[in-house]
Amino acid sequence: MTNLLSDIKEIVGEKRLLIAADLEERYDHIWHMDKGLDALAVVLPINTQELSGIMKICHRHDQAVVVHGGLTNLVGGTETKSDELVISLEKMNAIEEFDEGSRTLTVQAGAILENVQNAAKERDLLFPLNFGAKGSAQLGGIISSNAGGLRVFRFGMTRNLVLGLEAVLSDGTIISSLKKIIKDNSAYDLKHLFIGSEGTLGIVTRAVLKLVERPRSRCSAYLGIKDYDSVVKMLKFLDKGSAGKLSGYECIWPEAYKVMALKDDQKNPPIAFDYNYYVLCEFMGGDREQDFALLQSLLEQAMEEGLIEDAAPAYTEIDLQWFWRIREDVHVLVQKTSYNQHFDVSMPTPDIGQYVDDVVDQLKSNPNIECVFPFGHVADGNVHFIVGKKDDSDALRLWINDVVYNPLQSLQGSVSAEHGIGNHKKKYLPLSRSSEEIELMKTLKLTLDPKNILNRGKVLDP
Ligand SMILES: Cc1cc2nc3c(=O)[nH]c(=O)nc-3n(C[C@H](O)[C@H](O)[C@H](O)COP(=O)(O)OP(=O)(O)OC[C@H]3O[C@@H](n4cnc5c(N)ncnc54)[C@H](O)[C@@H]3O)c2cc1C
Repeated sequence: MTNLLSDIKEIVGEKRLLIAADLEERYDHIWHMDKGLDALAVVLPINTQELSGIMKICHRHDQAVVVHGGLTNLVGGTETKSDELVISLEKMNAIEEFDEGSRTLTVQAGAILENVQNAAKERDLLFPLNFGAKGSAQLGGIISSNAGGLRVFRFGMTRNLVLGLEAVLSDGTIISSLKKIIKDNSAYDLKHLFIGSEGTLGIVTRAVLKLVERPRSRCSAYLGIKDYDSVVKMLKFLDKGSAGKLSGYECIWPEAYKVMALKDDQKNPPIAFDYNYYVLCEFMGGDREQDFALLQSLLEQAMEEGLIEDAAPAYTEIDLQWFWRIREDVHVLVQKTSYNQHFDVSMPTPDIGQYVDDVVDQLKSNPNIECVFPFGHVADGNVHFIVGKKDDSDALRLWINDVVYNPLQSLQGSVSAEHGIGNHKKKYLPLSRSSEEIELMKTLKLTLDPKNILNRGKVLDP
């Protein structure tokens, strides 16, 4: 065993330093559980002090480190090489404190999103962040990728929900500011360096999360809409008409809806397969009867005005769960493909319709493309694609990337709305960021991690 590993073993003991055959049981992504982990070792710290000690050793040895959370990212952010040390925060998963007056939860980085949501619910409050991987994704990974999800339109991205943060730097320094205050303009707000930097600037260990009052009612409907212009108009109509109750507005294109709506051998979809755009909208409010009546009356008015062609409200809790399961379980789309590529791009909401039409037309002109499934959080200007293809060649992969990413620069959009850059999107970063911005990012990286040991080669090339 190298000096490095024996030094680390001094801190964590034998059981929390996994090497050799132990690594066969580990993996670098929840979708690759069948492939053992290729890494030097996996370390499982149980508190910030231990992690700080481990990083001091890694810094001394110039040891490259890859940080593992729930392993649900979609950009290769947790891929490892055989000489890299994995630090997994999975054992630091406690929900440490609930502060009723401040309406906050203080959690360790390994806490799983669904457990945090449930902890808030038990206190009659809501942690609004929500997305399909909630059963696996950990707060440290979520914060490091500034995840978005299904309710960003109303409650913001992860960045908007973190009040305080603790992180360990590459040299083991602990930066701790677990404050519960919303306003803090005492110089630079350092927590934002770690939020969304994908583990390249520091390792998140603990966070203070902002909770909101739990809505008393949740009402949803699927809408059938004829053109994208009406999708945009309907968004404003519902937002204005509900005076702030609109909490979700998810658009699904027909090819994706046909697969998603009939999952689990479901015989009938919530709304017939007759439309060009399907929208799942959601109101969160204070009174189920009143909110449902408001939603219904707005939908009737929208039909009369020709904004929508059809609407199917969820009448029961069972319907509500079913409607959202359809949208959340994108894995059914993945299962329809032999090989697939995922995209997560953003641009001004009104530009999405034409952009999707152009990209889909171009992709489908290639006989090696099997299917294109667009869906997404259009209220946030965010659209996802899953592209199915006949082969896994580099040439095809790069061609698809060019088709999807190249138009974004002139649209003032982004190659990553929420999933981040990781390993897979580095080449395309200049389409979203100026050379001056990228240079400043590199300066920050060099300042905080001069030996380039944290998630080396992810997000930025040196
Ligand atoms: C089915 C599915 C649906 C999804 N839906 C959405 C969605 O709607 N919106 C959205 O934004 N994202 C979505 N995602 C992707 C999303 O980014 C991740 O699910 C989540 O944010 C990552 O959390 P994780 O704990 O799995 O992190 P990991 O995948 O383990 O890591 C993500 C990145 O953060 C780093 N990291 C992990 N933990 C730490 C830490 N403690 N400190 C520093 N760095 C760390 C890793 O090195 C890596 O670079 C989805 C993913 C799946 C599989």
